[in-house]
Amino acid sequence: MHTHPTALVTGASSGIGRELCRICALEGWDLVIVARRTERLVALKKELEDAHHVAVHHITADLLDPNTPGRIKQETDRLGITVDLLVNDAGYGAYGDFTAHAWEDLEGMVRVNLLALMHLTHLYLPPMIAQKHGRILNIGSMAGYLPGPSAAVYHAGKAAVISFSEALWEETRKSGVTVTCLNPGLTKTEFHERAHAPAPAVGWMSATRVAEIGYAAVMRNKRVVDAGLGNTLLVRLFPFIPRRWLLWGARMG
Ligand code: NAP
Repeated sequence: MHTHPTALVTGASSGIGRELCRICALEGWDLVIVARRTERLVALKKELEDAHHVAVHHITADLLDPNTPGRIKQETDRLGITVDLLVNDAGYGAYGDFTAHAWEDLEGMVRVNLLALMHLTHLYLPPMIAQKHGRILNIGSMAGYLPGPSAAVYHAGKAAVISFSEALWEETRKSGVTVTCLNPGLTKTEFHERAHAPAPAVGWMSATRVAEIGYAAVMRNKRVVDAGLGNTLLVRLFPFIPRRWLLWGARMG
């Protein structure tokens, strides 16, 4: 009899999401892994099934399409899978001034980073509440704590992810369900290259370490966790720094 709980992870094909999948498998979770790059998902499925004897389903899906969250839910229902942990990790950035980007690209970023996260939560939270157990881990960002000249829409979206997650943490507090927001700082993944963003020389964390912090936080029912001591302290300093200095620093960073 198979009794492993199941985690559904978006953004499973690389970076923080893939490391979260590895930790979950190590801890005995079955997995539903979601991203666009099928070959990466197939390789991860094989790696995790071989190493940890868990069941891994992969769903190739583009979260730019507004119908995708519904399709993912239909697929897990069809497979008879109850999702015990939903990890909303998929996301990307786009560096450059607001008007330098095509509107469609910015809208797509909000679709993937924010609306798909909200939609998947809307689909998987009700059954969790009904069964009085379940966990949701949303990936926010340090970017959510301050406006981001050169990445204005990305920062605004991440601020919304933090706000949304904290609100749901309170809404679900007595339901047996927990909602946690993990806010990474600079993390070595494919993110910066894909966003064409400058890569500072210092301050990086590994995706593995960030994923460990996120997994530990969600298991301890934490509301919000900032990745690493440096980031945690930095956020505490923000209220004491004049806003215009912060904006200048964010543009330079
Ligand atoms: P990454 O290595 O680029 O991974 C991003 C993941 O999102 C990939 O698995 C990618 O899969 C998936 N994804 C992107 N667009 C998608 C789409 N349209 N449909 C479905 N999946 C999509 O970057 P990462 O750093 O691990 O990012 C993970 C999360 O951490 C993101 O939410 C990001 O905003 C956040 N974050 C990262 C950093 C950092 O410094 N790296 C800092 C703060 C927050 P496919 O391309 O295969 O679809």
